[in-house]
Amino acid sequence: MIQAQRIGLMGGSFDPPHHGHLRAALEAVEALRLDRLLFIPTGAHPFKGESQRMPPQHRLAMTRLAIADEPRFDVSDIEIQRAGTAYTIDTLRDLSQQFPADELILLLGADLLGELHLWKDWRELLEYAHLCVMNRPGYDARPACSLASGVLLKHQAPPDGEPIPDYDDQYFYGALTIRDLEISSTDLRQRLRQGRSIRYFTPEPVIAYIQEHGLYGQATQ
Ligand code: ATP
Ligand code: MG
Repeated sequence: MIQAQRIGLMGGSFDPPHHGHLRAALEAVEALRLDRLLFIPTGAHPFKGESQRMPPQHRLAMTRLAIADEPRFDVSDIEIQRAGTAYTIDTLRDLSQQFPADELILLLGADLLGELHLWKDWRELLEYAHLCVMNRPGYDARPACSLASGVLLKHQAPPDGEPIPDYDDQYFYGALTIRDLEISSTDLRQRLRQGRSIRYFTPEPVIAYIQEHGLYGQATQ
């Protein structure tokens, strides 16, 4: 019999990917004993204006380069391939069909907690995956504690008085404390625009790709 795998999922723009993503992912792999971790670059984003973002094929290519050294890391283009806006709930539904015997663990940085209640069908995420929130410098991780204590963002739930539904017991939500690394793609994009180096914030092959393709206002080399 094939052993069920524990598969971590890390969605993001990865515009560009950086060592903050990679360390967070590796710490999750170790702490949660994951067999694999899928990086899932977003396609059309429901909140971020598409015009301001690097085209999906570049973000996909950079993410592939960033993870190339770690055998437990993989990239999925499931959201980029989907026509129209990609919602996390739809991705989870698809992946749970693709990996019916496996356990899915959705990893979220603490910065996403404030907007989680705006996600499509956010209450149903736990029907398909465990949810694990990781701290991130500059963001309040306390909502993660309320997740851990079993109250799914109670204080941020829409004020419609709807009760929090009972979830299938097999899924949990929790918080994972990781080493703080204050790196963001926003900061990297800003540095690139200013003509400053992003060396040591992201793997060298990502920087080489950015230069080769003249991304983020870089002169093509
Ligand atoms: P941007 O500044 O463009 O939003 P970002 O650095 O936040 O980029 P994303 O691609 O938006 O990167 O993030 C993907 C996932 O990785 C999210 O869950 C986010 O919370 C998490 N993440 C990103 N950077 C870090 C970090 N330095 N530490 C912990 N988690 C992080
Ligand atoms: Mg972000």
